[in-house]
Amino acid sequence: MRAFDYVRAERVDDAIAALADPNARCLAGGTNLLDLMKGYVEQPTRLVDITRLPLASIEPAADGSLRIGALVSNTDLANAPIVRERYPLLAQALVSGASPQLRNMASVGGNLLQRTRCHYFVDVGFDMCNKRKPGSGCAAREGSNRIHAILGASDHCIAVHPSDMCVALAALDAVVEARNGAGVRRIPMSEFHRLPGTAPERDTELRHDELITAVILPPSPFADHSHYLKVRDRASYEFALVSVAAGLEMDGKRVRDARIVLGGVAHRPWRASGAERALVGHALDDDTLAKAALAATEGARPYRDNAFKVTLAQRAVARALREAASA
Ligand code: SF4
Repeated sequence: MRAFDYVRAERVDDAIAALADPNARCLAGGTNLLDLMKGYVEQPTRLVDITRLPLASIEPAADGSLRIGALVSNTDLANAPIVRERYPLLAQALVSGASPQLRNMASVGGNLLQRTRCHYFVDVGFDMCNKRKPGSGCAAREGSNRIHAILGASDHCIAVHPSDMCVALAALDAVVEARNGAGVRRIPMSEFHRLPGTAPERDTELRHDELITAVILPPSPFADHSHYLKVRDRASYEFALVSVAAGLEMDGKRVRDARIVLGGVAHRPWRASGAERALVGHALDDDTLAKAALAATEGARPYRDNAFKVTLAQRAVARALREAASA
């Protein structure tokens, strides 16, 4: 680990001022950043410790939305009665991620900024990685790419976003609140994470001088019928090969509205809009499920080792929808 300045912020404004240095990083739970620093993947010149900022509360608003402070731990969020009651999809996704010890430390803001676990990104022994070293190439395209993207990738990067929480937040139309010296910006989850394109070094639309202060959840129509399904190599502790956040609003036996977001398949949570269209207005029978499952992977482009993810994603979508309907 390289030497760095350490700044402990006591006020939000102090943290924002300290983030003016483009090589500064926020330190909250440190569950991802510290590992990357020890491996020389991240080498910030300044760490801004934000753990003392007043951003750890969960507050219902008069308009029915829920404001979740950026420093709320993943454990506290998953266990909050209001989250379990109104947003069970989010609670399920949170407890499927990491280990209890990590969830106790990990914050909402840090989870939004998790970096990919692509083998070539996290190991500086590999020279080619456009995300870590722009312009160096992408070792995963011709290398080991079993865990990589099947949707939305580019020739510059085929990495996937690792978070479970973010997949549920995308399905719930969450909004990220960020602050810098110019004021407050609200970024819809659908726009927060980027596709790799020609600049895979940028994971999100967050500016370097912005501090994530909260996530806002609007009232959800999916509380009665939702399910988060995570498929992984081992049940105890692993990132998703494929995950599905499914939400249904039912009108008797017919689907009035649907939300399907996939994890583990793209550089950001992947909204399966075609699958949602296949469901709306129809009874959730085998024929409808099959059409939705096929539509969920429309445009998929697998690589040498991960063609299995296409079928896996289709089956996971169908299963998640069945579970959501019977919830
Ligand atoms: Fe790097 Fe992305 Fe290629 Fe992995 S997939 S080696 S993160 S450029």
